[in-house]
Amino acid sequence: MAIRNAVYKNETRMCEKMLKVPFVDLKEQYEEIKGDVSSGINEVLGRCDFILGAKVREFEHEFSSYCGVKYASGVASGTDALHLALKALGIGEGDEVITQANTFIATVLAISYTGATPVLIDIDPETCNMDTSKLERAVTEKTKAILPVHLYGQTAEMDKVSETAARHNLFVVEDACQAHGAYYHGAKGVRRAGALGDVAAFSFYPGKNLGAYGDGGALTTENPEIFEKIRLLRDYGQAEKYHHVVKGYNSRLDTLQAAVLLVKLKHLDKWNRLRVSHAIRYTELLGGIPEIKLPKFKKNEKSAHVFHLFVVRVEERDGLIEFLNGRNISTGIHYPVPAHMHEAFRDLGYKKGVFPVTEKYSEEILSLPMFPELRDEQIMHVTTAIREFYGR
Ligand SMILES: *Cc1c(COP(=O)(O)O)cnc(C)c1O
Repeated sequence: MAIRNAVYKNETRMCEKMLKVPFVDLKEQYEEIKGDVSSGINEVLGRCDFILGAKVREFEHEFSSYCGVKYASGVASGTDALHLALKALGIGEGDEVITQANTFIATVLAISYTGATPVLIDIDPETCNMDTSKLERAVTEKTKAILPVHLYGQTAEMDKVSETAARHNLFVVEDACQAHGAYYHGAKGVRRAGALGDVAAFSFYPGKNLGAYGDGGALTTENPEIFEKIRLLRDYGQAEKYHHVVKGYNSRLDTLQAAVLLVKLKHLDKWNRLRVSHAIRYTELLGGIPEIKLPKFKKNEKSAHVFHLFVVRVEERDGLIEFLNGRNISTGIHYPVPAHMHEAFRDLGYKKGVFPVTEKYSEEILSLPMFPELRDEQIMHVTTAIREFYGR
């Protein structure tokens, strides 16, 4: 019996050893949609309408109705989407835009590109989204907009953001780059990310919940004037070919990428539901370990969290990462350096210690593998390894 147990244990070890859990796996998803992607791309190749072609218009139409808004415009990236959103609102030098200290750096960069000053605030310790209780104090007479990020795939507290914005006559720009398909249950009913502010920015970076096979982005809005400005700004500022009414940019969604996105958009809800079910599974399997804090979320059918990332907080993070690496498990940190601590933003003049939650969390947060095709045995492999590391 003892021998058989030993043999059994060895075999499981070996299996575990071979089982690999990448942080994100795009290949498996590609296998699922390969045929449709090829025919979509071939259609574009057949027409050679590479710049602002038919697939771009079709995707913009589908994506706006998916988000529940009138207009969508495809652009070259999520960063550009944020930048053009702010430009379309007329934001520039001398203005201030409020956003959060824990976000991907592109949020803050986009504000800087316009010449405006990014004003950062701390994050809510429960959700890691903007701490809206800090909003009011951050508003000055220079403030033009609030830029909440639906971080990790969970919609920000938009009712609070909208209240503050209305009180001070500010614009609201959503950074929805991690939250395609996430819902918000608020005063105006249940709406999707992209339909919660004056204008929203999406990224289609390959690893996002809706990802292209290259760079891409989009803006969504209900406002026809904002929409018209974005159309100009993304296409050299031309109202007609070679007639330039504003100093615009070259930032268009590639037609080949639009063909990929059209295929993937049809699967997005299913893929998001799978992400949520993986999050629930992680939560079940990691419950009751004191060294690990799990993200809190409501299990609504119209989920407010689409788990672009599954972010836990842990003790002894470096040791755990190394241990998991040894078990073929890849992890990430989103983000290891808070926005205000980057050398690039030293000119903003923030000192260490100003955003205690963001700073503390930057040393504790750990993103576990998360993608729709994650298999249960892979989740088990991750959670078993974590339990083992803490001796639980
Ligand atoms: C990915 C991301 C961006 C930037 O998108 P790109 O398409 O990579 O330019 C901006 N903000 C957040 C929160 C993101 O996650």
